[in-house]
Amino acid sequence: MEIQEHQITVLAGDYSGPEMMKAGLAVLAAVSAGTDFKYRLHAYPFGGQGIDQGGDPLPAATLAGCRQADAILLSAIGGPRYDGATATPEQGLLRLRQALGLFANLRPTQVTPALAPLSPVKEVADVDLVIVRELTAGIYFGQPRQEGDQQALDTATYTRAEVARILRVGFELACQRRHHVTIVDKANVLATSRLWRRVAAELAPQYPTVKVDYRYVDATAMQLINHPQAFDVIITANLFGDILSDEAAVLPGSLGVIPSASLGLTGPNLYEPIHGSAPDLVGQNKVNPLSMINSVAWMLRQSFGRADLAARIDQACQAVLAAGIYTADLGGTATTTEVTQAIVDALTAQAE
Ligand code: NAD
Repeated sequence: MEIQEHQITVLAGDYSGPEMMKAGLAVLAAVSAGTDFKYRLHAYPFGGQGIDQGGDPLPAATLAGCRQADAILLSAIGGPRYDGATATPEQGLLRLRQALGLFANLRPTQVTPALAPLSPVKEVADVDLVIVRELTAGIYFGQPRQEGDQQALDTATYTRAEVARILRVGFELACQRRHHVTIVDKANVLATSRLWRRVAAELAPQYPTVKVDYRYVDATAMQLINHPQAFDVIITANLFGDILSDEAAVLPGSLGVIPSASLGLTGPNLYEPIHGSAPDLVGQNKVNPLSMINSVAWMLRQSFGRADLAARIDQACQAVLAAGIYTADLGGTATTTEVTQAIVDALTAQAE
């Protein structure tokens, strides 16, 4: 049987983006060496690179390359050089999300035994949760919208279809994990939240192995710090997900370890670190490569069904952290390339 070659589009990003992408691709090469996982990389300009090359953060060829891919790896875009410009890197990201219908944003937070001592929060070991955030509707997109000096208006809107599709992503993810979803809302106040609860109650019987909890967003904000081990999959609206995922990002000790996946309606999924392009660290070999490396692991698991390879990356990363090899954002002294090489070496040793 002929082995399929997976097509991966690479958007290397701006400022520290390319350094992180280089690390992610080195780990992808190491974990797939000698296995039946074959792939081809296709690099395109995007964000600031697109602006520099032709004035457009999402050139037509880049969008076409993304549509044709089996998965997209993106490092962070943007930075001071583009602040205040007419065409900004962020416009490229919004247009790409829209064009690919990326409606679900998955943000995993894991505090492994190796990371727990580096967290600013006490007794935080064994946290392993994923926030499933709705990405293309809700109050960030609702109409009408008015901005005045005496009065301003934002509108929160969700349709049944928008709610059902994001809930399904969360339920299905829970089936691959610990079979527990927590639907986070403000149903005591908001009509949209009550629609979420009605749709969830209708869908839940289709997932009989999944335990469903409903929780208000304010209580969740406290519990994420007090007892984050209570969560497996959190499913929530755009606004709540935006805020809670930044709060959860504090738990592992640095933004620099957290990946994300954005799932499309029909097209390829996109994998990227949750943070920006760390312009203050560019060219210094200091940026933490783990968020990009973890994004590669998520791509292998989620888009290519290769939980085996993802688990090998996880294991290598944990071994390297446990050996005290980590970057300054986690309190370490290792460089980007030292951390990356240590993970590549650990993967090579596993294979021997
Ligand atoms: P940032 O996330 O780039 O940096 C915030 C702080 O975290 C900085 O001190 C930075 O050094 C540190 N940091 C971030 N990632 C790190 C890593 N991997 N290792 C070590 N330290 C890390 O946020 P910012 O400075 O507010 O934004 C910089 C640029 O990134 C801006 O132009 C912003 O618009 C853009 N941005 C892009 C994305 C994206 O591509 N999805 C997301 C957020 C911000």
